[in-house]
Amino acid sequence: QKVEWAKLKDEKSVTADGKEFVIGANIGTPKDLDGVTDNGGEGIGLYRTEFLYMDSKELPTEEEQFNAYKAVLEGMDGKTVTVRTMDIGGDKYLPYLPLPKEENPFLGYRAIRISLDRDDIFRTQLRALLRASVYGDLWIMFPMVATLPEFRAARDIFYEEKAKLQAQGTAIADGIKLGIMIEVPAAAVLADKFAQEVDFFSIGTNDLIGYSMAADRGNDKISYLYQPYNPSILRLIKNVIDSAHKYGKFAAMCGEMAGDPIALPILVGMGLDEFSMSATSMLQARSLMKKLNTTEMATLADQALDAETNDEVKALVEQTVLNK
Ligand code: PEP
Ligand code: MG
Repeated sequence: QKVEWAKLKDEKSVTADGKEFVIGANIGTPKDLDGVTDNGGEGIGLYRTEFLYMDSKELPTEEEQFNAYKAVLEGMDGKTVTVRTMDIGGDKYLPYLPLPKEENPFLGYRAIRISLDRDDIFRTQLRALLRASVYGDLWIMFPMVATLPEFRAARDIFYEEKAKLQAQGTAIADGIKLGIMIEVPAAAVLADKFAQEVDFFSIGTNDLIGYSMAADRGNDKISYLYQPYNPSILRLIKNVIDSAHKYGKFAAMCGEMAGDPIALPILVGMGLDEFSMSATSMLQARSLMKKLNTTEMATLADQALDAETNDEVKALVEQTVLNK
């Protein structure tokens, strides 16, 4: 199978009936780029910049960040690179940035919430990104956005830093896209409002499933509740994709679910635009996609959305697609 997949490295991600999708990679550092190229990645759907912060003894400087972002943008040679601003907090801890002790860190001070509170750190990151933007096709997204005012505040800070740099004569790319991760159920439900202001969504199913089911996936006693195919999750995802498309925006997914062979046929049926996953899963996903028909998958997606349980959906996909 590996040999068969390897042949797909330079091919498009296209269904049997000719609909094209984007299969991108999730990366943590510029070192991951070789794996992306070797496995035929069509872009970076998620660059987790928090590793820059976690692998360092102090806050990374603007210059250090600029070099990392430039390396990734240049390495991708004009293909889209979606950079997520720092997603610290929850389980991601920085020894040099002590966070308050919290009863519920996953419901606490993390990600965009820290960035908006500590806008000194956030502005440094945005300046590094703005300066690097001329080396490729940069999209920027904010993690854990729950409300529209949070997105607007982040966007305003972005434009402030952009204006400052431009006033100094720094070159900045036109057309940097600004989007949000959809990881908080509140944002998934309100996607039609967000879609009027953002350029794109990227659905972070790892967190979205956890928050929707109110279940920590790291807790063995309740791991049965981590249910990617639960129709409630599928309906949230559908709402996000449809809302994006209603306003001509782009809908991506960068959680583990995007590379899951059970979920992929349903997501193709829902018309998700981009599937971003670990580099080692990309060719397998492309291979599966080539066997699918979008009209059939749209019917499958409708059946899945109307199902009652996670297991029912899993069995449906296995019977109609995978074991066919
Ligand atoms: C997600 O939550 O799905 C996601 C991609 O973000 P992370 O796994 O880095 O929390
Ligand atoms: Mg997340």
